[in-house]
Amino acid sequence: MSAPTPAAPDPERTALAWAHTARFLTTAAQLDQLPPTELPEIAFVGRSNAGKSTAINMLTQQKRLAFASKTPGRTQHINLFELGPKDAPDALFADLPGYGYAAVARGAKLRWQQVMAQYLELRRSLSGVVLMVDSRLGLTELDQQLLAFVAPRVGTGEVKLLVLLTKADKLNRREADAALAAAQGVLGQLATDDADLSLALFSALSRRGVGDAAQVLHGWAHPAG
Ligand code: GDP
Repeated sequence: MSAPTPAAPDPERTALAWAHTARFLTTAAQLDQLPPTELPEIAFVGRSNAGKSTAINMLTQQKRLAFASKTPGRTQHINLFELGPKDAPDALFADLPGYGYAAVARGAKLRWQQVMAQYLELRRSLSGVVLMVDSRLGLTELDQQLLAFVAPRVGTGEVKLLVLLTKADKLNRREADAALAAAQGVLGQLATDDADLSLALFSALSRRGVGDAAQVLHGWAHPAG
């Protein structure tokens, strides 16, 4: 009789355990202040109030991790988190400044645009972007402007894209279907043979989509496995 084969590791648990290793690395006001890295980097972007901090905290199962990005002085910064074993980190998360906050002065908006555009166009290690969109608002003009910065690299498959429709607990079934269809329509404009695009409903409150999102990110960071 052959020995019993060990149970295959549950991919969702593996992904969540990996995401849980996230720890704060550094903060930077602009691209040239970020450390160069060979590690795959996953950027989190979204309008202010889209639920980005809550989603990052949920994915990493750390109550206050992303709220580090909301402390005064850091809100316009790119905050980097390191993942994987401490002695052999295998990926970075980059929490990018939220945008679209009405009260922000014109000068600050222009500076934001420049920081975001440069990061998304030029950051060599960028391997994936997670765009958080309030499911009740859908992809706004600003979200589409942001996507335009990274669209060329998404088109070649160099940068992967996951769009999470947040606060899905606030939608009924029909509204959720409509939100998915509308977002799908916008993302269709980015579709090419090589593009890697994903779209999902997400709720930190109900935990809907959390495990799946963790698996997508884990897959981006560990393409061979
Ligand atoms: P950020 O500005 O994008 O980082 O947004 P936050 O994470 O601070 O969330 C903005 C607001 O949305 C807060 O009041 C959160 O409590 C709320 N929120 C975030 N995620 C969810 C969710 O999944 N469901 C519900 N109902 N509210 C949420």
